[in-house]
Amino acid sequence: MAQNFVFNRPAVGLAALEKGGALKKWTFARRALREDDVAIKIRYAGVCHSDLHAVKDGWGGEFPLVPGHEIMGVVEEVGSGVTEFKAGDQVLIGTIVDSCRVCDPCKNEMESYCRAFPTLTYDGNDRVDGSRTRGGYSDTYVADKRFVYHVPKGLDIKSAAPLMCAGITVYSPLRHWNVGPGMVVGIVGIGGLGHLAVRYARAMGATVVAFTTSPSKIHEIAKLGAHEVVLSTDADAMAKQAYRFDFILDTVSKKYDMNPFITALKLDATLCSLGIPDSFELRPVLLTMGRRRLSSSGVGGTRETKEMLEFSAKHGIAPEVEMIKPSEINEAFRRLEKNDVRYRFVIDLTEGLGAD
Ligand code: NAP
Ligand code: ZN
Repeated sequence: MAQNFVFNRPAVGLAALEKGGALKKWTFARRALREDDVAIKIRYAGVCHSDLHAVKDGWGGEFPLVPGHEIMGVVEEVGSGVTEFKAGDQVLIGTIVDSCRVCDPCKNEMESYCRAFPTLTYDGNDRVDGSRTRGGYSDTYVADKRFVYHVPKGLDIKSAAPLMCAGITVYSPLRHWNVGPGMVVGIVGIGGLGHLAVRYARAMGATVVAFTTSPSKIHEIAKLGAHEVVLSTDADAMAKQAYRFDFILDTVSKKYDMNPFITALKLDATLCSLGIPDSFELRPVLLTMGRRRLSSSGVGGTRETKEMLEFSAKHGIAPEVEMIKPSEINEAFRRLEKNDVRYRFVIDLTEGLGAD
């Protein structure tokens, strides 16, 4: 890989300077515009639980690390090969910004499954010059046009950013497992991902049952569109779920007791675990009983991301967001850790990064 960095765009972001460190203002540079690049001024950035994992739990490969892979912004400048975007366009960028482009998943626009591993929006290495990618908790971004998306008409720009990770990560498996009318679908963990999953599964026509550990959320989750809400800490209520579900989408961010949810699957049904815990608390015999399946899924590629955005606009699906100032990011991380957010923090960067 060439190590010939050409940086000419001064940038400022919120960075963790070391693993577990507080986020602080940090100046760096974005690359000079290449032929197919789009440079944007960032307006809003969603705060995903993966950002917290990256900073605190050792997912981060290299520090300083600027998190953020749910990005809404306005185009400032485009490279000479870009006709799809122009200055002033409202756009979105998600979790990946490049891929090998030649493997089968890439050729099928499923770049999140690129066999050479996609280039992550932050904490990755640019495929052309080898420079480190820095995320959306910052004032600007430069990305190849293939991984930049127009905001469809009808979507609110203030809340659209979380669709680019939380949205696509749940939309993709719901589509893959053909969720629709006649199916009973469980959504486990009603946070950033889970609350959107409730909305999508409902719009797709399924009977939606939400599982939460938070009694205070029960009433709100019903309003999000769940037909039923089950308190998953209630053993009696969980015992009644056995052999009920055609599909379960699990968005829990930590290792937890998965056995009652595996028991809740019908014959041949699948539980798709999105949370990427270090290990599973699971009795394999429960898979044997009922030939049940445990699977996972990773965000989504460019084709499905465009489809998800159109679907969201058509069905009026947007995340519930709590807007924060850049200076409030460390408090937002603390609250996210304590499961105290309804349901996604979004950093308002319209006034820049503010004072130190
Ligand atoms: P989040 O907003 O924190 O939501 C996670 C939810 O899990 C919480 O709201 C809570 O829901 C539930 N929960 C938390 N601790 C729990 C525990 N100990 N036991 C049972 N339930 C618990 O996080 P998020 O941003 O939605 O992300 C969810 C997970 O998906 C994270 O681990 C993230 O890294 C991962 N992720 C994966 C992908 C992928 O490609 N597979 C993409 C993005 C994110 P209740 O209060 O309703 O119980
Ligand atoms: Zn994410």
